Amino acid sequence: MSARARIGVLALQGAFAAHTEVVRRLGREPREVRLPHDLDDCEALVMPGGESTTMSKLLETSQLFDPIAKRIADGMPVFGTCAGMILLASNVLDGRDDQRSFAAIDIDVRRNAYGRQVDSFETDLTLSGDAEPLHAVFIRAPRIERMGANVMALAECDGAPVLVRSTSVMAASFHPELTDDDRVHRMFLELVDTVERR
Ligand code: GLN
Repeated sequence: MSARARIGVLALQGAFAAHTEVVRRLGREPREVRLPHDLDDCEALVMPGGESTTMSKLLETSQLFDPIAKRIADGMPVFGTCAGMILLASNVLDGRDDQRSFAAIDIDVRRNAYGRQVDSFETDLTLSGDAEPLHAVFIRAPRIERMGANVMALAECDGAPVLVRSTSVMAASFHPELTDDDRVHRMFLELVDTVERR
């Protein structure tokens, strides 16, 4: 096993504990990432839901932003859910002016775009190539409004992609860590293992 065998979970704010649990349930060692050196033994990183503006600020004060950006540039696989997806997007619409993102995947996302009145909703999605519906929880979710040519939609909701991937990045508008269904995390761990083998 390589020195970097852990699945990092960014643990500055938001729903990180549920991701940590899923990673453990799937037989992998999670590592909560709060400081730059926590990244050292991580082969991949999950960015949870929460509040992207707050996380952006905390990434700077904890001096994690630049080391994470460097690891992403070096090919570390990353998976962002909800606010985490906003942090990974190349372009954030309706963001705060000082909000930063890693531009790790070529998508435009609009914050809180599923409407403030219906803050949260649940629905069944179809995963590409899988007949079994996936129950998905959306909480003040960002909407993907544009996808680059190298980005693939793995699930859609009302005509908009809600789960996407590129070579080493996955992003979801919803919260797969809040349901018992592990398929989305399994997809990410497969991606991690594929990137590792290349
Ligand atoms: N609306 C939040 C944001 O802009 C995301 C919500 C979530 O992660 N559940 O960061």
